[in-house]
Amino acid sequence: MKVLLVGSGGREHALAWALSKSPLLTKLYCAPGNAGIAQVAERVPIPATDFFALAKFAQDARIDFAVIAADAQLVGGLWDVLEAAGIRALGPSKAAAVLEGSKGFVKDLCQEMGIPTAAYQRFTSPEPAKAYAESLGYPVVIKADGLAAGKGVIIAADKGESHKAIDFMFEGGFGMSGHAIVVEEFMQGEEASFFALSDGSNVIPLAGAQDHKRVGDGDTGPNTGGMGAYSPAPVLPPALEQVAMEKFIKPTVAAMAARGMPYLGVLYLGLMITKDGPKLVEYNCRFGDPECQVLMPRLKSDLLAALLAARDGKLTPLQWHDDVALTVVMASKGYPGSYEKGHVITGLDEAAKLPGVTVFHAGTEQRGSDIVAAGGRVLNVTALGKNVAEAQARAYAAVQKIQWNGAFYRTDIGWRALKR
Ligand code: AMP
Repeated sequence: MKVLLVGSGGREHALAWALSKSPLLTKLYCAPGNAGIAQVAERVPIPATDFFALAKFAQDARIDFAVIAADAQLVGGLWDVLEAAGIRALGPSKAAAVLEGSKGFVKDLCQEMGIPTAAYQRFTSPEPAKAYAESLGYPVVIKADGLAAGKGVIIAADKGESHKAIDFMFEGGFGMSGHAIVVEEFMQGEEASFFALSDGSNVIPLAGAQDHKRVGDGDTGPNTGGMGAYSPAPVLPPALEQVAMEKFIKPTVAAMAARGMPYLGVLYLGLMITKDGPKLVEYNCRFGDPECQVLMPRLKSDLLAALLAARDGKLTPLQWHDDVALTVVMASKGYPGSYEKGHVITGLDEAAKLPGVTVFHAGTEQRGSDIVAAGGRVLNVTALGKNVAEAQARAYAAVQKIQWNGAFYRTDIGWRALKR
């Protein structure tokens, strides 16, 4: 079976690594990929944004199955383009990706299905939004309805910040994604993620994870795409995973099927564990990055077989290793702001030889015989261990081996789990 994976980050390297182990696979392509992905797949120099070139390539190369990893492609409709070109692909479709593409849609669906989430209202003009925010009290959460490259949520501490955030969104601060907004109650608690795989009617659990969004130790400094993660997350014990499936995921998949937009693919549930129990923060229509990098090493079953089964409506439960996986993101100095590219990375082979360690590449490129840093998040140094402490020790032992000019990382990935 010839498979095309679309994307180029650490999530995609973890997926490529897992797909490459499948006995069903004859050839793996990745568009556009990175230097690490090149070790397990043939890179195709087509940007993930060029849907029609991807479809043409898939037809010409006789691709049997395509895996789309990122939200922008899914919400933009790449699944629909590939399927229309006769290529089986794992979605969701553009219609079903509304679970990530519209925060207002998700909140309405929660209300209809009785799924616990923060109190909210949707607005298309600023003045009523400001009045509702005032009625909720502060802090209050202001969200652009559409995709905003992960930046569309503002937590406003007081009335001044709330008015500023609402005006900013309606003035186009997040582009078209702020033409409508959601104002919602601030939830206090610890966040965790839970992943499931749906074939449109049936849905199976994958696993839980917890990530670290802030750039600095102790969860300080600006938000990032994620500086590290681990799975399973002690904040989500098996009983809560069951609640995630029964109270959140299954009613959502059923509601999507009932609306005529069956959800095919990976569903990412962002939860806030509040004192009143778990509540939905958001849905994403794909694996998280870096959460995928800790789920794949724990997956015992064949990923390719599982994703194909989801596409074809034939899902069966998957097997997982009990070990804990933990990943440390190594980033370029300046991230999440501006940073330098092109510095040569050393120590990758030494790091990968350590027990339980796999180094996934996020932003890397090949330059001659060197691998160079080519992104903000550069590497995801991942390790398996009997428990969080062991996985953490192994991951950081590997991090110590790797260097480039301007590399930095958090030194406390896993602290919440260890504190428990
Ligand atoms: P989202 O894009 O919806 O995931 O929001 C981004 C981040 O904002 C989440 O990961 C939370 O940390 C935070 N957030 C979103 N909604 C709320 C809320 N109602 N209460 C507290 N924090 C929130």
